[in-house]
Amino acid sequence: MIIAIDGTLASGKGTIARQLAARYNLPHLDTGLLYRATAAAALGHGVALDNEAQIAQLASQLDLTKLTDPGLRTGEMGAAASRIAVFPAVRGALLKLQKDFAQRPEGAVLDGRDIGTVVCPEADVKLWIDADITIRAKRRWQELQAQGENLSVNEMLAQLRERDARDRSRSLAPMQRAADARLIDTSDLTIDAAVDKAVAIIEAATGRIA
Ligand code: C5P
Repeated sequence: MIIAIDGTLASGKGTIARQLAARYNLPHLDTGLLYRATAAAALGHGVALDNEAQIAQLASQLDLTKLTDPGLRTGEMGAAASRIAVFPAVRGALLKLQKDFAQRPEGAVLDGRDIGTVVCPEADVKLWIDADITIRAKRRWQELQAQGENLSVNEMLAQLRERDARDRSRSLAPMQRAADARLIDTSDLTIDAAVDKAVAIIEAATGRIA
């Protein structure tokens, strides 16, 4: 079973993806980490963030065992990731990695921005996770505060708007809801309630009971 989860920043998609993977005993790939790790490699090698060819080269050499580095989860790395994610050569280099991951015999859970539309258009279940932007800004602000990053909720809101706009407007694989993706709006939901909704959608679509 392939579960494709897309959605906006701080919508809860990553947490939902992790919980579904544990529940159905499936491997999980947070595809945002691929873009973050590519951006980190570029910054680490002194490659300018507009050097598409060299960044694509680094993307093709990514070490998937290094995706656990907490340094990838900072706001700065997220912003750098979204800048390099506009490049077709970079997306092309990462696409094969993601498709290979999804082809495991037992299936997989992948979350990102273009999983249901580009990476796994054949997925058994597609979810689109979203929430009100002010609620997302508060959630992300709390996470970053806990990591010691210092910025105001309003600055966070502005960053979120900028990132959403860039992700939605890029010409290749923009962030968008697949026509057959089911929406879960987490604005007023706890994580447990959001996961329950996802499970109900999966069970109705596949007949599979966890
Ligand atoms: O989800 P996360 O914040 O880790 O993603 C960082 C950036 O990577 C996103 O803002 C987006 O630009 C890019 N990304 C993407 N396609 C994906 C996953 C992430 O373009 N499937």
